Amino acid sequence: MIGREYPTQNYEEWLAFITAHLPEPVSQELVSDGSMLLMGGDPGQVIVRLTRSTVTVLEYAARREELHTPGVTPRRVGSVVWRRVPNARAVAAVHALIDAARDARLAKFRTCERCAQSTPPESMHDDAVCQSCAALPRAGRPGDVVGSGGSGGR
Ligand SMILES: [Zn+2]
Repeated sequence: MIGREYPTQNYEEWLAFITAHLPEPVSQELVSDGSMLLMGGDPGQVIVRLTRSTVTVLEYAARREELHTPGVTPRRVGSVVWRRVPNARAVAAVHALIDAARDARLAKFRTCERCAQSTPPESMHDDAVCQSCAALPRAGRPGDVVGSGGSGGR
């Protein structure tokens, strides 16, 4: 005999709340164990796992492609057993965990020296250059900006 059944709408409300508070775009994936996996951001920033009792917040992480170890290895930031906590407190806690996970993830992004794109660590070739730029043939020496046509100058 299972204890009290929790109204489905609670779960649906959590789903809506989490979706609204994750960085865009948000993707959802129903896992075989019945939990819902939500990922926010592209490249990923925050992952949330929602079950009928618990919300778990993880900082998105991925290994560098060049290591040939595909697969995400997220780092858990915290969990809230939402059915044991008054709703307002649970909501505040999950909100804080999502913000903390996002901040931790974004703090690891680097700005590529060549294309100036904010780049997640797994997409950096080294500390300075992203993998896309590293794969391009280089024209000129470092710091020697080759005019790409149409540059007006000042
Ligand atoms: Zn780059």
